[in-house]
Amino acid sequence: MVGKLLIYRGLTLSFKAKDLMTDFYAVIGNPIAHSKSPIIHHAFADLTRQDIQYERVMAPLDGFAETVGSLMAQGFKGANVTVPFKLEAFEIASQLTERAQDAGAVNTLIFTPQGIIGDNTDGVGLVRDITENIGVSLKGKRVLLIGAGGASEGVLHPILAAQPAMLIITNRTLDKALNMVKRVEARDEMVYVSVQAHAFDDLQDQQFDIVINATSAGLTDSQLPLPSTIFAPNALAYDMMYGRITPFMAFARQHGATVFDGLGMLIEQAAEAFYIWRGVRPDTSPVIEMFKQAQPST
Ligand code: NDP
Repeated sequence: MVGKLLIYRGLTLSFKAKDLMTDFYAVIGNPIAHSKSPIIHHAFADLTRQDIQYERVMAPLDGFAETVGSLMAQGFKGANVTVPFKLEAFEIASQLTERAQDAGAVNTLIFTPQGIIGDNTDGVGLVRDITENIGVSLKGKRVLLIGAGGASEGVLHPILAAQPAMLIITNRTLDKALNMVKRVEARDEMVYVSVQAHAFDDLQDQQFDIVINATSAGLTDSQLPLPSTIFAPNALAYDMMYGRITPFMAFARQHGATVFDGLGMLIEQAAEAFYIWRGVRPDTSPVIEMFKQAQPST
């Protein structure tokens, strides 16, 4: 197994005994060159003294399942999955965790002799960043979730589990937000939180304590049609994007909110995957700090 792995990685030389002990992981996406996951996981491995190697793997758009099969054959222990393969990862998993079922998508694969387990760590990553790193409780708060794509679906149930007073979902394509609400309503245990879908136009005269941007509008520098009155006093504005100051972040700051980007979520979702694979929870704060030093401040 390990011999094949070394050929795959372009290494054909003899290797030290340590290499035989190394466990291999990957992040699979297309494109993938931008992914920070190898840096994050190697930092976790250093902090926790775990012997792992973590690679970026570019899968062909029509070749995700084959890529996963190849990694398994080479002895990899697991993989993270990013755009555009989270739904395919959900499909190929032979077993799904509850949070993967809730999210309808998988971002973490565990390879076992019995098959592939699919999990989703995005939601717990977001909630941990907000509650533990930023130090803001979601409990009893009025929360606005903007967007109804994969990221929004992934964080919906973990947000509800944190018991906000109300959650409004808004999206450019309103039907997608309405469908998310319908699915929540179909689950009895979530009824203690008021969950509704509103069009952007219907957000006038409403204020929120926490506003989470789960759209990709920042990628194209697009401004979201939000009323300027939307932020309650001391509101938190959280953009899942990271590495750039988006129009949403600039707008939120201009209207009095405290602004955070998605760097902490990225690192927390990775920490949860690392914990699942290794059974050790890394301290995320030095890794968040390392990345903050290297990116423009939000
Ligand atoms: P999807 O493509 O699944 O969904 C995109 C969402 O953005 C949809 O709701 C879409 O609305 C909306 N949208 C896109 N452009 C605009 C626009 N110009 N105006 C208004 N709405 C717009 O993407 P994901 O959900 O997977 O990702 C969303 C964002 O979250 C990305 O920026 C991604 O990088 C980030 N993310 C960050 C993570 C982290 O760890 N920090 C983890 C996962 C995601 P519509 O339905 O109308 O098309």
